[in-house]
Amino acid sequence: MANNRTEIADIGGEFGLIDRIASQFNSQLSTTVKGIGDDSAVFDLGNEFGLLTTDMLIEGIHFDLTFHPLAHLGYKAVAVNVSDIAAMNGIPQQVVVSLGLSNRFSVEAVDELYRGIKAACDDYKVDLVGGDTTASRSGLVVSVSVFGKVAKEKIAYRSTARPNDILCVTGDLGGAYIGLQILNREKQVFVADPHMQPDFEGKEYVLQRQLKPIARMDVVYELEEAGVVPTSMIDVSDGLSSELHHICRQSGTGAVVFEDTIPVDEHTVLAATELNLGPITAAANGGEDYELLFTIRQEDHPKLKNNPNITFIGYMTGDADKILLRTKNGNVIPMRAQGWEHLSS
Ligand code: ADP
Ligand code: MG
Repeated sequence: MANNRTEIADIGGEFGLIDRIASQFNSQLSTTVKGIGDDSAVFDLGNEFGLLTTDMLIEGIHFDLTFHPLAHLGYKAVAVNVSDIAAMNGIPQQVVVSLGLSNRFSVEAVDELYRGIKAACDDYKVDLVGGDTTASRSGLVVSVSVFGKVAKEKIAYRSTARPNDILCVTGDLGGAYIGLQILNREKQVFVADPHMQPDFEGKEYVLQRQLKPIARMDVVYELEEAGVVPTSMIDVSDGLSSELHHICRQSGTGAVVFEDTIPVDEHTVLAATELNLGPITAAANGGEDYELLFTIRQEDHPKLKNNPNITFIGYMTGDADKILLRTKNGNVIPMRAQGWEHLSS
């Protein structure tokens, strides 16, 4: 038999596959401003831009119901999509939610899931306007799409950073990855001896970061108040390093990051140390923090320098794709995009 089967891993995994799909589709409509390749698609609505993004969460891949409360999961499913609208500097408006349910799930379980979805709709001021419900043989599937809007002159793409722009990140990094490691550790303890109680003392912060991430709409509004439009932006779903590679590759720039400025919460540092993991490695390569990584013009720095939600971690350079980390002891090393999956191996 002819061997005409190609493994997805052989074309570069998820990103290679997306590139392959993208190469087969050109926009046919003049209203399609940006197709595949950014955090949201962008449409011309006349006076402003429309934004559309979708993300799917699958049981056993993205969450484990032995430790993920359903209400938190519902909240997270909406928040991660709102985060992609935030990453375009946009405002989310409407959301649709599609569910795949196996007969393991009761009405009460679905109520719990929707309690979280409702809390997120209230927090982010979006309306749930539809969805789809179907049976599933492989556990729970939650797929969410969010529609948003942004003024044309305020949109922030991944591809428009420029040399000498200042690199900024919101909040702190690495917590969600460390939270996941704690959950996995306690699950193994529990599987080995179901009488053992999980030891989550002092881990509330990192657990919250993993189980109930927050989309940084607050910072989108603060940027607007400060009169700053980022020159580029992306949300941190796969880790700082991976996201910075996306911005640099699409903008044709390089970047320098100062290791000692990367924001890591003290709870994350403590828990990482307990797990024998480097806090900076977790921050650079751990995923799911859903913070915003963005660049600004140097002249905008004074407008943001007192904002406690924003840290300045480096600058962009003209050396295309050269992404460097200046370490605490002054060495300069390439910052590789490992992605969080590689951390555990
Ligand atoms: P994010 O992490 O911001 O959600 P992704 O890495 O999932 O972004 O996706 C990158 C880009 O690829 C986005 O523009 C997304 O819409 C697009 N994309 C992902 N999967 C597919 C697919 N199966 N078909 C078409 N476009 C896709
Ligand atoms: Mg994104």
